[in-house]
Amino acid sequence: MTTKRIPVIEKILSANDRVAAGNRARLDAAGVYAVNFIASPGAGKTALVEQTVHGLSGRFRIGVIDGDIATSLDAERAEAAGAISLQINTGGECHLEAVMVQAGLEQLPLEQIDLLIVENVGNLICPAEFELGTHDTVLVASIPEGADKPYKYPGTYRGVDALVINKIDLLPYVPFDMDYFRRGVEVLNPDVVSFPLSCRTGEGVSTWLEWIAAQVEAKAKAR
Ligand code: MG
Ligand code: ZN
Repeated sequence: MTTKRIPVIEKILSANDRVAAGNRARLDAAGVYAVNFIASPGAGKTALVEQTVHGLSGRFRIGVIDGDIATSLDAERAEAAGAISLQINTGGECHLEAVMVQAGLEQLPLEQIDLLIVENVGNLICPAEFELGTHDTVLVASIPEGADKPYKYPGTYRGVDALVINKIDLLPYVPFDMDYFRRGVEVLNPDVVSFPLSCRTGEGVSTWLEWIAAQVEAKAKAR
């Protein structure tokens, strides 16, 4: 029985990849740099969206697509921070798929957007398997989750372009072996760029903002 499931999953993923490629072409044509935020629930994806919008809305026009199972709370926070935001409720799905982002792109004024942040559903497993058409994937890790996550979720850590390590203000209070964490990341993804920061205190956020601003500017120049 299990051998029959593999081709089905491959078919779903290849159909998803085709839609993702279309999304990418559409973003490129509009000169939009798009990034996919993935994380476990509570790591601080929405807080990072807020910090990014606050920090860069004077320089760039920012859109946010917020994937959530049922609510629109995160999209409301992104909008309050100053982004053009759109909620996608997945109706129980634990990840975004390219068709959901495609539907979102149809509703956003892409010509008026420089940076599009897609906040995926909080989950460390399947969001990494579904390409959305974004240019980069950012994994938001956080100190209270513990330092063993690269070892437990290698597929996710292996594929990301940037790693935010959020809630570093909690390092004095929570056991977290940073060397063990970094060794785990290094084996899977030696070239990943990482940003230890705290969305709560603002420590380290400016370095993150510089990186993402450079990606947006490079995309605008490449158009
Ligand atoms: Mg959120
Ligand atoms: Zn899922």
